[in-house]
Parts: sequence; C-alpha cells; structure tokens
Amino acid sequence: MASRILVVGGAGYIGSICAWAMAQAGHHVETYDDLSTGHRAAATGTLHVGDIRDRGRLSAVLGAGRFDAVMHFAAKSLVGESVSHPLRYYDVNTGGTATLLQCMQDAGVRRLVFSSTCAIYGDPVYLPLDEDHPRKPVSPYGDSKRMVEELLDACREREGMQIMALRYFNAAGATLDGALGESHATETHLIPLALAAAMGQRPPLKLFGTDYETRDGTCVRDYVHVLDLAEAHRLAVERLLQGHAGMGLNLGTGIGTTVREVLAAIHRVTGMAVPHDLADRRPGDPPALFAQANRARSVLGWQPQHEDIDAIVATAATWARAPRY
Ligand code: UDP
Repeated sequence: MASRILVVGGAGYIGSICAWAMAQAGHHVETYDDLSTGHRAAATGTLHVGDIRDRGRLSAVLGAGRFDAVMHFAAKSLVGESVSHPLRYYDVNTGGTATLLQCMQDAGVRRLVFSSTCAIYGDPVYLPLDEDHPRKPVSPYGDSKRMVEELLDACREREGMQIMALRYFNAAGATLDGALGESHATETHLIPLALAAAMGQRPPLKLFGTDYETRDGTCVRDYVHVLDLAEAHRLAVERLLQGHAGMGLNLGTGIGTTVREVLAAIHRVTGMAVPHDLADRRPGDPPALFAQANRARSVLGWQPQHEDIDAIVATAATWARAPRY
C-alpha cells in the first residue's frame, strides 16, 4: 500500500536513509530539513528547506502535501553540546516537536514515527534495557527527547494521534552501495572516528576508559545497522496505516560489543589497524548499554538483517573511503 510520507529531518544521516528506504519500498516521499547539519545531496524527493520551529512554513508544507504520515528525525544530537547549551536542545528538540505536532493536527495528519533514543533511560538500573526501564536521562539531549515522549503519550491518549517512538541504540553503517552514509561536521561517534583515524585523516582515536567492569575494560554498546533502523521505520509506518495506535519500541540487536571489539572488527574488515591512545573515561558514559528489543520484533515483525559488527563496520568503511557529501 503506497502512501505519502513527509520526512522531517530527512537530509540527515538516519533520516536520509529511512527516506530512501521508504521510496525504495514504493512510498511517495518528500523531505523537510533546514540543512543545518543535513546535506542537500542526501535528500529524497522534493526538498522543502525549513526550520522545524517555523510554524508557517511547516503548516504550508503539511497543508499542501496530503500526507498519510510524518517521520520525524529533526533534532540536535550532540550530547556534550547539550550539557553546555541545554536551551538549544529543549528549544529545537522539544519545542520543535510540539510545533510539528500542532501543525500536523491543523493539517489533519494523525500518524507519526518519531526518532527517539535509548538516552531517555539514563544509567541502566538493569540490563538489557527494556521499554519499561525508568527514564532518568543524564544529559539535556536525552531529557529533551524524554520530554517529547511525554508529549507523544498525551497526543496518543488525548488527541487521537497514532505515534510510534523508536528508541535507537547506537546507529551505525551506511547503504550497501555506499550512496548514503554518516557525514557530520562535528563527529563524536566511535565508528566514523575510528575509521578516520585508521585512514590517517584524523589523529589517533582516544579510547575513553579502559577500566570499566566489562570483559575487556572498555564500554559495551549495542550497534544497530542503519538499514535495519530504516526497515523498522518502514514497518512502523505500515503498522500505523493498518490502524495500530502506536507505542515506544527499542531498536537494538541485543548484542553488546566493546570499544576494543569494534576496533578489532575494523582491523579485520579493512586490514587497517586503528591507531589509538588510552584516555580517561568520558563523563556520562555508562559502562554498558544494550537493548531488550523483543517488543519491536513482535509488534513490527522486525528482524535485523545486519547484526554482525563486521557487516556494520564494512558498510561504514565503504562510505568512509568515498563519502559522497
Ligand atoms: N568512544 C571512544 N572514543 C571516541 C568516541 C567514542 O572511546 O572518540 C567510546 C565511547 O566512550 C562509548 C562508545 O565509544 O563507549 C560509543 O560512543 P559513541 O559516541 O559512538 O556513542 P554513544 O554510546 O555515546 O551514544
């Protein structure tokens, strides 16, 4: 069943790949993005350049498009910056989403898939993290998204909207043909930084913390391939179109991988060793985070296809060698 989808924040890393995947699946896709961190070349379909806080612009686009659903990725996502400039995060992420919801309601668009994060949970009280885990984010970034999820609960319960909130663990990788991938002016994520260090494009990687109580002393994370995230978004939109009320769902593989294991995978897959220096722990990093993602599997029928860390790293490496933007 082909539908009309507006992808807000669709020129960024995850949004652009989800938009492309929706178009591949036969849906009509248009993109809305302010290009503050996104790339024109990454957008699918008509690109409407606009800020998520611009109610006039958003209303005009939503009013004209006869959209069946919105997928929403527009957000500021640098955890460190959110600590030094929290207001920017509440303004764009929380305030911007409130504006989007109001504009959707005005235009009669009732279905939303929201890009959420495991950062809403904060330091794990137990592992794996399931959807009922307490929500005590440790950064304004995580808190801005937690607040959005409260707004979404209210809109689901009181405003008749159908909303899936997809909580990603560590998104990584690129499309298999190397056409779309991760390109940030300020890069903070492990895999792109490690690949850049391996290719001699950046100084040696700083390995943040080697004295955690984990199997090799480094942090454990749940890396999930961006193509698997895209598939979950497609399934989420289709479930909403079938009439599901929507809910919060974790998107992770449930597999924990340490930082050293990521570096070993890069070496194995590319033949390049990752030069690195041992560094202090990065403030705010919990020792281990990984998902209990059974709910996404049962509600959406989602089954990650690229769980292996080598497969994730391989596509990230193809992209890193020849980024298109
Ligand atoms: N990390 C690291 N060096 C870096 C960037 C990240 O050692 O330059 C570690 C970080 O401490 C964490 C893991 O890699 O344990 C994943 O970090 P990333 O920033 O990619 O994602 P996060 O889990 O913080 O969202």
